[in-house]
Amino acid sequence: MSVLYSSTRDDSKKLTASQAILQGLAEDGGLFVPDHIPALDKSIDELANLSYQETAYEVMKLLLSDFTEEELKNCINKAYDSKFDVEEIAPLVQADGAYYLELFHGSTIAFKDMALSILPHLLITSARKNQIKNDIVILTATSGDTGKAALAGFAGVEGTKIVVFYPKHGVSPIQEKQMVTQKGDNTCVVGIEGNFDQAQTGVKQMFNDAALKAELDQAGFQFSSANSINIGRLVPQVVYYVYAYAKLYANGAIQKDEKINVVVPTGNFGNILAAYYAKNMGIPIAKLICASNENKVLYDFFQTGIYDRNREFILTSSPSMDILISSNLERLIYRIAGDDVSKNREFMGALTKDGKYEITDEMKAKLADFYGNYTSEEETASVIKDLYEKTGYIIDTHTAVATGVFKKYQKASNDTNTKTVIASTASPFKFTRSVMNAIDEAKYDKMSDFELVDELSKIGNVKVPNAIEEIRTAPVLHDTVCEVEEMPSVVKKFLGIQ
Ligand SMILES: *Cc1c(COP(=O)(O)O)cnc(C)c1O
Repeated sequence: MSVLYSSTRDDSKKLTASQAILQGLAEDGGLFVPDHIPALDKSIDELANLSYQETAYEVMKLLLSDFTEEELKNCINKAYDSKFDVEEIAPLVQADGAYYLELFHGSTIAFKDMALSILPHLLITSARKNQIKNDIVILTATSGDTGKAALAGFAGVEGTKIVVFYPKHGVSPIQEKQMVTQKGDNTCVVGIEGNFDQAQTGVKQMFNDAALKAELDQAGFQFSSANSINIGRLVPQVVYYVYAYAKLYANGAIQKDEKINVVVPTGNFGNILAAYYAKNMGIPIAKLICASNENKVLYDFFQTGIYDRNREFILTSSPSMDILISSNLERLIYRIAGDDVSKNREFMGALTKDGKYEITDEMKAKLADFYGNYTSEEETASVIKDLYEKTGYIIDTHTAVATGVFKKYQKASNDTNTKTVIASTASPFKFTRSVMNAIDEAKYDKMSDFELVDELSKIGNVKVPNAIEEIRTAPVLHDTVCEVEEMPSVVKKFLGIQ
C-alpha cells in the first residue's frame, strides 16, 4: 500500500512523498506526516546481510513509495559513496557498555550529512517526477552546522542552486571557514549584518514573497528548503537505526528479536523521531532516550506534559542542540493526539501565542516508550574526560550529552542489561576546543585551533578528517556581506535576475 502525506494541521489534502519533499513545509504551517507507517517487509536475517545502501533502499522504498526502484537506488548511490570516509557509512563502536553509532563520517563530519547528502537527489528526482522544469533554489539560514552540510550536499548537483545566509559575527571561526571555502558554481554563501533570527526571518519573507516568486518563475527558478522539517530529511534518518540493529544482530551482540535502547542527543527532535519511526516499522526498540543539554525544554516536557519555551536561552558547548522550539516534536504530538489535526492545531496555536501548551493525561500515557533527561555543562565535560581515560575513545560534546543521560537512565531504572545504541552525532574534531578542554584544560587552553586538532589526532589515535584538513589551507571563495534588507537583491544577483 502506498504511503501518502498530509499536514499535521489539516489532513484534507493528500500528497505523494515526492510532492511533500518538493513543498517542504505545508502551507498551513504544519509538517507533513505519513498516513501510516509501513512495516519492514524483510526479516532480520535478510537485513543482517545488507550494506548501508541496500538497507537504505529497503527502508526508503516503503516510506517514499511513489519513487521507482531505479530512482531511489540512483539517489542512494549518489549520496552514500566515497564522500563518506568509511565503507560501512555508519559504523558501530563499542565503548564502556554502549554501542556508539558514528553518524559523522560524511563530508562535514556531523550527522546532518546522513540526510543532506541524499536530499538534493531526492529533490531533483521529485521535481522531474512532478514535471517541474525550473531549477530548484535552496535558501537556508544557518547558525553554523546545517549551512555547511547543505552546501556540501547541493554543491555541483545539476538543476539546483543553494544560497546560505549566516550571521557574520555569530558563528565559530571553524564554521565560517568551512562555509566560505565551499567550492561549486551553484553555491552562494553570504554573511549578514544581523543575528541568526534575522537571517531566518529574512529567508521566510523571501519564501512568502509572491512578487519575488513570480520573478523567479519567469527566469526559470523556484525556491525550496533544506530545513530539517522536510520529510526528505527525516526518512533517510530512519535508515541508520534499522542498519544499526541489523549489524548488532549480524555480529552476535543481540539475539533475534532482542530489544535495544536508543539514546539520541536532541535539539529539533528530528533524529529521535526517526528512531521512533524505526520502532514503528518493527525494529525492537525498548526505550527511546531523549538527551538534552541545559536547554532542557524536552526533559521538562517528558516530566510534566507541559511544553514551555518561556525561559532563558543558554549557550552551551553543544550548540547544535541549543534550541527552545523543537519543530519536529509536532509530528509526535499529532500522533499521540490520535492523528487529530484540530487538537494539534490548538497546541501549536498556544505555542505561538503563549509559548507553551499542556498535553492531556491520555496523550502522556502514549509517551511511555520515551525517557527524557539532560546533562549539565559540567557533566558533559566530565563524561568526555572519564570515557577517554577509561577507554581511549574520544567523543564530541553533543554525544557526551547523550552518554550523560544514558548513565542517569541506567541509575534511575536499574535497566543495565539492555544493549544500548548511542547516536554519535558529531566528530570530536568539529568541537575540538571544548573536547580538549574537557580532557585537560590546563594543558590545552593555550593552544591554537589547529594545534588542538593535531593533538586530538595524537591522543585519540584517529586520523584528522578530510573536512578539517581541507580548511587548513583552502582559499576563501565567498566574501559577500550584506544588510538584512539586501538579502533578496543578493539572491537575485546570484541568479542573474535584475
Ligand atoms: C543537529 C544536531 C543535533 C540535534 O539533532 P535534532 O535532529 O535537531 O534533534 C545533535 N547533534 C549534532 C552534532 C547536530 O548537528
